[in-house]
Amino acid sequence: MNADAGGSPPSRGKSVLFCPECRFESPLSDGWLVVSDGDERTIVCPKCGHVADHRSARSAPTPQHAD
Ligand SMILES: [Zn+2]
Repeated sequence: MNADAGGSPPSRGKSVLFCPECRFESPLSDGWLVVSDGDERTIVCPKCGHVADHRSARSAPTPQHAD
């Protein structure tokens, strides 16, 4: 899809990640250090090294049973 003719502003509708440590802010696919380790993926802030997100690349997250 190349329907980007018209000079539309960069959409902020993406999943923008925000570092609470150094206030670094950028879309996940642009700027963040993505460290893949097996089935897991760690999103590290490129500025301060804070781990902003850590998730496994497996199937959907299982709901916790608080029963
Ligand atoms: Zn940071």
